[in-house]
Amino acid sequence: MTGENVIGAVAKRILVVEDNDLNRKLFCDVLKASGFLVEPCADGELALAAARAFGPDLVIMDIQLPNISGMDLIAQMKRDAGLSAVPVLAVTAYAGKGDEEKIRDAGAEAYLSKPVSIGPFMRAARGLLGV
Ligand code: MN
Repeated sequence: MTGENVIGAVAKRILVVEDNDLNRKLFCDVLKASGFLVEPCADGELALAAARAFGPDLVIMDIQLPNISGMDLIAQMKRDAGLSAVPVLAVTAYAGKGDEEKIRDAGAEAYLSKPVSIGPFMRAARGLLGV
């Protein structure tokens, strides 16, 4: 993989942290189809190390992960000097208004509730990347 997309621009890098196999594949497939360079991460406990290794321009973060909360991961990212500037798009099955506030308080720049539709997902991702 060259890191360049079809128009020769350097592709933006997106880390997808999602334990559900179908959701992870869907998110990765639609992002790749738009020319992004995508790294999947199924295990939340490996997410920070994956982010440090991959150097993403955007992180898609599932909130409901086994053994660790996506909210805690976002908070840890925002305290990490190397990762704090990376925008986070949280995706969650939570629907409550209070939950959205908690997710934003943790540091997520944007939030989508599941089930996630592709149109709003891509608009949110592009908006955070500025592309
Ligand atoms: Mn999950």
